[in-house]
Formats: sequence, structure tokens, C-alpha cells
Amino acid sequence: MTAQLIDGNALSRELRTHVAERAAVLRRRGVTPGLAVVLVGDNAASQVYVRNKVKACEDNGLHSVLEHYPASLSEAELLARVDALNRDAAIHGILVQLPLPPHIDAQKVIESISPAKDVDGFHVASAGALMVGQPGFWPCTPYGCMKMLESIGYDLRGKHAVVIGRSNIVGKPMALMLLQKNATVTLCHSATKDLKAMTLQADVVVAAVGKRNVLTADMVKPGAVVIDVGMNRIPAGEPGEGKLCGDVDFDGVREVAGYITPVPGGVGPMTITMLLVNTLEAAERL
Ligand code: NAP
Repeated sequence: MTAQLIDGNALSRELRTHVAERAAVLRRRGVTPGLAVVLVGDNAASQVYVRNKVKACEDNGLHSVLEHYPASLSEAELLARVDALNRDAAIHGILVQLPLPPHIDAQKVIESISPAKDVDGFHVASAGALMVGQPGFWPCTPYGCMKMLESIGYDLRGKHAVVIGRSNIVGKPMALMLLQKNATVTLCHSATKDLKAMTLQADVVVAAVGKRNVLTADMVKPGAVVIDVGMNRIPAGEPGEGKLCGDVDFDGVREVAGYITPVPGGVGPMTITMLLVNTLEAAERL
């Protein structure tokens, strides 16, 4: 079997068209959905991510401001900036790019964002809302994965979903979203004893670890849906060195799986798309 590709670029284009249409409706009512992106320090990867987020806003009719501060910014100064953005009527969504420099308590900063503007979905109020099934902002990456499953018409009811990775921003919310759609969910992590025994039972596998080849062909049930969240670089000395790759051995697993997401061009663009969706919804809720 050669798996069908779930193309995150194509799906993103489609969803961003809807975002642009809804943003135009809001603008006609005098409201331009606005996202503030706050970056502290000079982390190279973070600079690329924030540029992509700001550009995606501009391309789809959302207003965005990028506030870039030196790594020496104090925690108190950052909290004061977030407070000002909480009170800024032109801003509907606030995103503080992680990681923050070590002298700043990232969780404290996230908790200072108004839950009504928490478009990253990292605030405890957002996490709690997801936990109990109340409306709230869903973290963009797992939300994007759910949209990918929806795009292939996949009915999760009664299916076994295995999530590898239990971070607060991907693995845990992913498990809760799958559970909400009536999947039976297994959440694996670094202390899981026999990962292969788990994944071989899975109708859906979501890999969110940050290590190459965590999921290989011998670990996948024929016909399973495989979603690859991982973002890694191929090390020097290996074919394709320096290129982006996921957690899944794509070439091997595509011969066994029913559906698979590529890296790049899979979950990555969907994450930014769901940030636009959340920002738009934050503006529509007002
Ligand atoms: P993270 O916070 O480092 O969490 C990684 C998780 O993987 C942890 O729960 C860890 O277990 C688990 N793990 C580590 N080694 C394992 C192993 N051998 N077997 C099973 N589980 C193992 O990472 P994250 O923020 O969730 O991100 C995960 C990956 O997704 C990274 O590559 C990141 O770059 C990528 N990512 C991509 C997007 C996107 O838009 N495409 C967005 C966010 C993240 P413990 O909890 O036991 O340590």
C-alpha cells in the first residue's frame, strides 16, 4: 500500500480563503481582526516562525503587529507589555513566542494574557476549557491535526488513537481532542515501555516527539492514519543534511499507512492557519 498524502499546504490554502472571507465581513462592520506577536531575544528559529505568522495575517486580511524586544527585557517589562495589549481594542489575539529567555517565567507570562485573547490556547483557562469540553481556544498544532483528520472524512468514533509525546502544547491537548471525538486514546512518552506494541494497535498515530525515526514502518498497522508533528533537521553527513524532517520514517511508513502527512508541508502550515482561525474567532466573539 502507498499511503495517500494529507497535504497541509493545500488544506491551509482552502481554510485561509475562508478566513480571508470572514475577515472581510468583519472589516465591513468596522472591525479588523488584529494579532500581536511578541518576540523576546534573537532565537533564529523563533524569528522565522514569527515572520511567517505576521505574513500569514497580512496575506489574509488580518492586522498584525510584531513587537521584538532584546533578550535583556525584564519579566516585569514583558508583563507590562502584555497588560497593554490586553487593553488594546485593536488587538484580538496575543501570542508570546516561546521559548523565552531563562530569566523570564514563561508560564507566568502566558497566564497574564487575557483568556479572551489567548489565541495560542496555552493559558490554563484554555487548557481547562478543552479538558471539560467548554468553548475556548484550542492550541493551534493539535487543532490543525484535527482539521487534517476532518479533511479526509475520518470518523474517530471507536478508533484507537495513539499519541506519542505528552507536552502541554501538542501531545496532551491532542489526546483530549481525539477523546472528545470518541476515539480510545493512548498517550505515550519517554517512559512508555513498549512503544511499538502500542502503535501497532493504532488506527491513528500522532507523532509529536522531536526525534527522527521515532515511528518506523514495522511499528504501523496497515492502513493506519499517520500524522507527523515533529520538526527536526537531518544531521550533517547524512543524505539531505540540513533539511527539515519529521519524527516519522516517511519513506518506509508511507508503504504501510493508509494516510500520511509530509514534513515539510504537513502540520507546519496548519499550525499557522489555525492561529489565523483563532484570531478571527476572537474578533468575531466581541
Ligand atoms: P517536547 O515538549 O520536547 O515533548 C516531547 C515529548 O516526546 C515528551 O512528552 C517526551 O516524553 C516524548 N518523548 C521523548 N522521547 C521519546 C521516545 N523515545 N518515545 C516516546 N516519547 C518520547 O516537544 P513538543 O513541543 O511537544 O514538540 C514535539 C515536536 O513537534 C518537536 O519536533 C517540535 O519541533 C514539533 N512541533 C511542531 C509544530 C508544528 O507546527 N509542526 C508545532 C509544535 C511542535 P517525556 O514527557 O517523558 O519527556
